[in-house]
Amino acid sequence: MGEDSKAVLADEACDVLVIGGGPGGSTAATLLARRGLKVVQMEKARHPRFHIGESLLPMNLPVFERLGVLDKVRALGVFKAGADFEADNERGYNTFAFARALGNSPPHAFQVWRQDFDKMLFEHARENGVDAREGTEVVAVEQHAPRDTRISVRSDDGRRYTVQARYVLDASGRDAFLAGKRKLKQKNPQHQSAAIFGHFRNAQYRAGEDAGNISIYNFDYGWMWMIPLPNGVMSVGAVCRPEYLKQRRGRTTEFLFETLKQNPALWTRLEQAQLIDDEVRVTGNYSYDATMIGGPGWMLVGDAFAFLDPVFSSGVYLAMSGAEQIAAVVDAALKEPAREIALQQRLEKRLRAGMRRFSFFIYRFNSPVMQQMFRSPRNTWQVEQGVISMLAGDLFDSRPVWWRLHLFRVIYAFCSLRDRRRWWAERRYRLAQAKVAFTGGTTPVDGA
Ligand SMILES: Cc1cc2nc3c(=O)[nH]c(=O)nc-3n(C[C@H](O)[C@H](O)[C@H](O)COP(=O)(O)OP(=O)(O)OC[C@H]3O[C@@H](n4cnc5c(N)ncnc54)[C@H](O)[C@@H]3O)c2cc1C
Repeated sequence: MGEDSKAVLADEACDVLVIGGGPGGSTAATLLARRGLKVVQMEKARHPRFHIGESLLPMNLPVFERLGVLDKVRALGVFKAGADFEADNERGYNTFAFARALGNSPPHAFQVWRQDFDKMLFEHARENGVDAREGTEVVAVEQHAPRDTRISVRSDDGRRYTVQARYVLDASGRDAFLAGKRKLKQKNPQHQSAAIFGHFRNAQYRAGEDAGNISIYNFDYGWMWMIPLPNGVMSVGAVCRPEYLKQRRGRTTEFLFETLKQNPALWTRLEQAQLIDDEVRVTGNYSYDATMIGGPGWMLVGDAFAFLDPVFSSGVYLAMSGAEQIAAVVDAALKEPAREIALQQRLEKRLRAGMRRFSFFIYRFNSPVMQQMFRSPRNTWQVEQGVISMLAGDLFDSRPVWWRLHLFRVIYAFCSLRDRRRWWAERRYRLAQAKVAFTGGTTPVDGA
């Protein structure tokens, strides 16, 4: 432990305290404990707890391997060979098969129940030496010096205590605990959406090797997903412009059904299906980031740093790969404090660059030009394969992928120019929707 620890009276002390027991928190905690640090991780809920975000990306697999959980994920997951989007062909859809990606991304990924996946990662952290506590909420953080932060904790058995840490990692997800306290959280001025979703039995699967695909559909106010989960369950949801979700009157279940019916191709696959436990959830107020990723003695991990619309299923991958790199920064910073800020800034630049590459597609996903490009992809100069690499999450290090994505942007700009009236109308609508006042949080609702 550092010298500072002697100066502060706290009930306990550790090297690193991690707030949150989701994928980002458990990844960072595991890797730091493996480096020999004393790590305490606090999760306010008890695993297994519900969480949305069930579709994983191929680029998650190397992270699983390094963590030592690939076999466990395989045992939990549904094999995902690609992502499919509606098309004007005989089948009605195109599969962007991960096996066709450029670069070195693995040829498949998995779909998982997040309560099982997150529990497994949390237990894995424990097996690796993390003091991982459930039912334990961080309620206050007070920093006295760069290597001296006192964290106040409340456990669900009513105990309250303080822990003194040399480093704090906030991986509290969309609660963005530390960014909120430090007033760093900013709403995305370009994009806002909200989701409504449920889980179904007896939904229709894609045939053959497409059976485990995520399917993405468009409708006038956003896009929809179908994600096959273990034991014959299909996760189905719609991500909508907030103005649309605000129109919701009456029962949330009916609103979900009315929304899903707006895409006939999706609805055909759901007509015979049953909503499990009549349970529908709504989340609001998407897309934000923190103005900085960290400072002396603290860093933000995963959704606690930034959240993007989930159309490309990027959240878990960004949280876990970011956490892996943050663990390396924290370890280096504790050994050589003089390098801390430079290392944080370098990582922040890298993460923001990756997120910008995703965001270009996310912001424009509902535009007529982008829809057409996904409906009838062309592989001239391997641009389609570049898009598949993006869908696989391979957009941080591969130059061949970058330049295909640049080329895609040029083609997009050219096509938008040809159809500029519709392009302009869609852009104006999106920016106006980003300004709509809409409250957030994950709200399980039904029966209202
Ligand atoms: C509608 C929707 C669909 C999505 N679909 C996908 C998808 O298909 N694929 C994908 O990869 N991502 C998806 N995401 C994003 C994904 O859910 C997140 O990006 C991912 O869970 C981030 O992981 P994390 O560890 O940063 O945070 P989380 O998984 O949110 O974990 C944070 C944890 O911190 C705990 N916590 C919060 N505050 C405190 C506190 N004060 N003290 C102690 N514990 C605390 C919470 O209980 C939680 O367990 C989706 C998101 C939404 C909203």
